Amino acid sequence: MRVLVRGAGIIGLAVAEELLLRGHRVRVVDPAPCSGASGVAAGMLAPAAEATWAAPGVLDLGLRGLALWPGYAERLGVPLAAAGTVLVARDGRDLVEARRQAALLAEHGIEAVPLDPAALAQVEPRLTSRAAGGVLLPGDRSVDPRAVLAALLERVEVDGVDAGVDARVEHDVEVLATGCSLRAPYSHLVRPVRGEAVRLRSDDPPSCVVRGWVFGEPVYLVPRASGEVVVGATVEEHDEPAVPT
Ligand SMILES: Cc1cc2nc3c(=O)[nH]c(=O)nc-3n(C[C@H](O)[C@H](O)[C@H](O)COP(=O)(O)OP(=O)(O)OC[C@H]3O[C@@H](n4cnc5c(N)ncnc54)[C@H](O)[C@@H]3O)c2cc1C
Repeated sequence: MRVLVRGAGIIGLAVAEELLLRGHRVRVVDPAPCSGASGVAAGMLAPAAEATWAAPGVLDLGLRGLALWPGYAERLGVPLAAAGTVLVARDGRDLVEARRQAALLAEHGIEAVPLDPAALAQVEPRLTSRAAGGVLLPGDRSVDPRAVLAALLERVEVDGVDAGVDARVEHDVEVLATGCSLRAPYSHLVRPVRGEAVRLRSDDPPSCVVRGWVFGEPVYLVPRASGEVVVGATVEEHDEPAVPT
């Protein structure tokens, strides 16, 4: 097939690379490649940690996706961090949330290890003096999305042309991978949720992905092998210009 892919974020690039491997002729167009959410994402591959928000079926889809990642990351030459997620509770109310999530995961047969403050000290020593306890989710993973994008860009050529020009490109199939906005008549299928994150350098980073509730507010820390720690993120349901506030 001749395939036109609109959008060079992780979805468009991953689809394009797979189609190229299968022998199709692929053209990817994006006026600003990798400028969307993929380049700023924290890179958590964390269906267990996200399970409370998941609609039925999403957890299963996430687990199936996660199962594909070790082979995918190896093929792309991108390291996968495998230390898991620790859910940390700041106070008793936060701990109720963490334990509720552990119970939900147990219902689905997913390993979730309750941690009292002493056990938490073994996992993340720097947190204990300020935490009421937590839950370890050993199956979650994380990856640096920028490394994944770079690896895909080595394998997939992107035309940085104005998207309108390519309406005339001959193709049998078109893939719309334009992120949080889709053109009509599909625009109702997605909605923008803006997130702001902070990237720090640390000489004493956590070993796991750390997710917590701090007085009811969710927050996460994602360590990278480079010493970078991503702290995130806001979750804002609007499509104001993507300018950090
Ligand atoms: C702060 C933050 C943290 C996140 N953390 C995580 C996480 O830890 N784990 C996780 O799984 N997900 C996370 N996400 C979500 C994740 O980033 C997105 O789901 C994912 O990156 C979407 O990829 P995409 O390729 O669909 O879109 P995008 O990466 O947004 O790419 C869309 C591309 O389409 C292009 N485009 C737009 N319009 C057109 C057009 N008309 N023609 C051609 N090209 C066009 C844009 O220029 C852009 O390059 C996070 C998101 C944010 C904002």
